[in-house]
Amino acid sequence: MVKIENALVIGGGIGGPVLGMWLRGLGVEVTIAEARPSVAEAEGAFLGVAPNGMHVLSALGLGERVAEAGHPCEAFEFVNAKGKIIGRIDRRGDAARFGHPLTMIRRGRLHAILDEAARAQGVTILHGQRLVGFSDDGTASFEHGQRLRGDVVFGCDGLRSTTRALAFSSAPSPRPIGLLDVGGFARVDVPIPPGVNVMVFGRRAFFGAFRAPDGEVWWFHNGPMPREDEPAELRARLLALHADDPSWVGALLEATPELLGPWPLHRVDGLPRWSEGRVCLLGDAAHAMSPSAGQGASMAMEDAMVLARSLRDAASLDEAFAAYEQERRPRVEAIARAASRNDSSKAPGPVGAWFRDRMMGLFLPRAAEEQSKAYAHRVAW
Ligand SMILES: Cc1cc2nc3c(=O)[nH]c(=O)nc-3n(C[C@H](O)[C@H](O)[C@H](O)COP(=O)(O)OP(=O)(O)OC[C@H]3O[C@@H](n4cnc5c(N)ncnc54)[C@H](O)[C@@H]3O)c2cc1C
Repeated sequence: MVKIENALVIGGGIGGPVLGMWLRGLGVEVTIAEARPSVAEAEGAFLGVAPNGMHVLSALGLGERVAEAGHPCEAFEFVNAKGKIIGRIDRRGDAARFGHPLTMIRRGRLHAILDEAARAQGVTILHGQRLVGFSDDGTASFEHGQRLRGDVVFGCDGLRSTTRALAFSSAPSPRPIGLLDVGGFARVDVPIPPGVNVMVFGRRAFFGAFRAPDGEVWWFHNGPMPREDEPAELRARLLALHADDPSWVGALLEATPELLGPWPLHRVDGLPRWSEGRVCLLGDAAHAMSPSAGQGASMAMEDAMVLARSLRDAASLDEAFAAYEQERRPRVEAIARAASRNDSSKAPGPVGAWFRDRMMGLFLPRAAEEQSKAYAHRVAW
């Protein structure tokens, strides 16, 4: 094993605490510096943890807790602007086939579980610590003057990673995907079967909705970036974009007490290396992808497990980081490409939409197969 006494992890989102727990298992002292002031239960909207990500959590003993806090997805149903079902992917066999179903969970709940579990395993988590610089010996400096040092520094600070910008002189900036995401939670009677992710290919924008067992509907919108001739107010703009879509979309938007976002979507690709000296990146900091494959969080968790295993099995940092990147890069790049393909069907214009609706029957088996292939992956420990 590479000799590391203490590791400094920048970012306590998803990959950071998961990496922290794997490193604790190797006997490494871990400090996580997180910019947010606290773990906010209500933060963000929701996400789906794919079976492959659930496998990493399960290997840490957290599978049941996350499953209890979330809800299994039994199917994806694809609907066109007229409300007609144009395709369905049945996911009821996933628990038997992959060990876990796709688990829908509020982002705040997942953060709280990871934070608590990491602390229980002896990881120190410091909130309100935003990285602003670091020197070659691994000493990091933070916004309010704090300084911390690690034998190794792991950049788990997401899409707009400061670690990436500081340590990698030629790091590419996040690239806009051209879609704006908005999310929310509402309680209103709409025709969405429980446990099904209903995906609406609307006339002007895309809309996804999931009904939790308690009746609450979790939804997200992916639409074009705002134009000048559109209403400035967010709810009015969303209502206008979905005016010609199934009427329940508008009902959900009206019934949502608080709109979450908007978040312009970005990706990070083309980073030539994921490590530099004693600094190594994982998750979105290394390879943020479009959320359209529903795999970003699971990729960060898989990265963490592979990175810890590589440190366990290698004789030097260079060797460990090279093994980690070599194993992870092909998988995350393939999934990022699939996510980009999904994006192009979300706001295709009228001609593209006409073809998409008619080709859906041909396209779906391939998409389902791609999804299953990603779900089946198991990181060995
Ligand atoms: C709208 C949307 C929907 C998504 N849906 C899904 C989904 O359904 N399934 C899925 O698998 N993925 C989804 N994703 C992707 C997923 O959220 C990310 O891939 C995942 O969160 C990456 O984890 P991470 O730990 O790398 O980064 P993050 O979770 O972003 O964590 C980074 C952390 O670093 C902190 N940080 C940032 N800068 C600094 C700094 N300078 N100093 C200290 N701390 C810092 C941040 O506060 C944050 O807590 C979605 C993303 C978006 C935007």
